[in-house]
Parts: sequence; C-alpha cells; structure tokens
Amino acid sequence: MRIVIALGGNALLQRGMKGTFEDQQKAAHLAMEQIAQVVKDGHELVMTHGNGPQCGAVFLQHVAGEEHANVPAMPLHVCGGMTQGFLGELLQQELDGALRQVGVNKNVVSIVTQSVVDPKDPSFNAPSKPIGPFYTKEKAEEMQKEKGYHMMEDAGRGYRITVASPVPQYFIEEEAIKTLVNAGFVVVCSGGGGIPVIFEDGKIKGVDAVIDKDLSASVLAATTSADAFMILTDVPEALINYRKENEAPVREATVAQMEEYIKQGHFAKGSMLPKVQACIRFVKATGHPALITALDYALQALKGERGTKIIP
Ligand code: ADP
Ligand code: MG
Repeated sequence: MRIVIALGGNALLQRGMKGTFEDQQKAAHLAMEQIAQVVKDGHELVMTHGNGPQCGAVFLQHVAGEEHANVPAMPLHVCGGMTQGFLGELLQQELDGALRQVGVNKNVVSIVTQSVVDPKDPSFNAPSKPIGPFYTKEKAEEMQKEKGYHMMEDAGRGYRITVASPVPQYFIEEEAIKTLVNAGFVVVCSGGGGIPVIFEDGKIKGVDAVIDKDLSASVLAATTSADAFMILTDVPEALINYRKENEAPVREATVAQMEEYIKQGHFAKGSMLPKVQACIRFVKATGHPALITALDYALQALKGERGTKIIP
C-alpha cells in the first residue's frame, strides 16, 4: 500500500521537553524506529509533519530577537521554510538510520514544499491563528503600525501576532513528489502544512500565514493517490464524550457517523477536530480509509487492532 503519514508536533518534540537539538533528535529517533517498521512491512511511504514548536522558536529568534542580533529578521513564511529544512535533515538522518537497522535499503529525501492558497481566502480578512511571544498593548500598536502585523489580544495573556490560516489548494512541487515516490524514494514533504504562497503578477510569492498540517496532509494523500492516510498523534483513538465519564474510543466509523459526532461537538477545535475533518476529506475524495492513532500504534492500526478508522 502507498501510505501517507502525518506526524504530529509532539511526535517530534514531546511535551515538557525544552527543545534542544538533542531533545528533538531523541524524539525523532524514537518516531523513526516506528515508521521504519511500516516501510519494512513493504508499504510505500510519504511522510509529512507538523512544525508548530519549531517554527515558533525560529520566529522568536527572528522577530523578538532582532534588536539583539545584527542580522535582518526573516518573515514567517521563511521561518516555515527553515523548519522544513531543519526537520527534513533530522528525519532524513533518523529514518535512514532506522531503515538500515531493519535492513531496508531505501533513500529518504525531503522537499521544500509550497502550498498554494487563494489570496481571496476568507481567513485573510479574519486572521485567527496567534503565533510567537506576547507583547504589551503599546508594543503591539507599534508593531502593527511599523511592521504591518495584525495584532490581537489572546485570552487575557497579552497581544500576539495573529495570522490567517488559509485552506491549501495544491502543492507547487506536486509532480516532483509523485515522481520521487514512484521511483521508490521515501519522501518527506509539506512540513508544517507547506509554505503558504500565492501567485502575484504570475510569480510565486510567500505569504505570512499558517496552514493546518492535518488539512494539507489530506491534500497530499489525495494528490499522491494514497491507499491509506494515517495521522499519528499522542492518543490511540479519537474519543467521543472526551474527558467525560462515558468517554469512549471510536474504533471504526463511516464518514456520516463522524460528521454526526462533529455536529455533537465531540472533537476539540484546533486539536482533534482538524484531524477528523482531514480524514473525512480524504475518504470522501478517494474512497480509501483514513486512520488516527498514536505513534506507537501505527502498525497495529494498519492491521485494524487499534486506532480510529474512518471509512466511506
Ligand atoms: P498533534 O501535535 O499531533 O497535532 P494535537 O495536540 O493538536 O496533536 O491533537 C491531539 C490532542 O487532541 C490530544 O492529545 C487530546 O488532548 C486532544 N483531543 C481533543 N479532543 C479529543 C477527542 N475527542 N479525542 C481524543 N483526543 C482529543
Ligand atoms: Mg495539532
């Protein structure tokens, strides 16, 4: 089977870790040991990943640290590109090592991937995604005036740069991704949802926005004609009645059942909901199954023993 796997941010940086290179290398090492088993079982793999903590850190170094550093700050979309490179390096090295360990001779290659968004996407008029550090009201007003950032108050904790979260339409590198997968490479791409770009006067231009990685992963899965789409996070199954006494895992459900659960409000916005929505999108587009499970249960989920499986 050709499987598209989306790795959650916490598969690459566990909660409570500080985020040193060694922390992230250790997390990637553990994750790639699991992923290598999927490749060893004979599956073709396309992998994508989140970049929330990493992009936040790079952005901080660029925006908040600019008065200390004598180097120009880079815009958010470039920070996204940097994290694709950094995490690409890490995953290439760790997955290469893990594949060697299990005796699989396959090359891992990562692609700096651009996600095309509609410049008229309604989210550009209603930025909703807060990123980076907190600022005072005065500093926020100054940043809005001088740098054009959209600043918003975030839950009583201070002001933050707030960006749009547009829907990804397709990837500029689509043909390159397909060619490499067809040639037998393990491909890492569209990290962090892909670098958001628009066309302006016929030219590609990066824009400051954050694309939901689960949503872009489902676009990737449909684009690469995947036989299955799997989102790996830190819970073995999506739950209904989440955090209530009658909490229960969803093991297998149709798109219609999942849509009903969404209506009833079982999945939290910004965490489980985008995963379920991404799965529904893939299943509707392809008729193939989608899975949500924890990193450690990837193999079991493919065998139907664990995880949430969404079917037509
Ligand atoms: P990732 O980094 O993998 O995208 P998220 O934190 O965004 O991880 O999403 C996974 C989290 O979603 C879980 O750790 C859990 O706290 C939360 N969550 C919200 N609603 C549910 C639900 N109904 N069932 C299971 N987990 C849920
Ligand atoms: Mg998430």
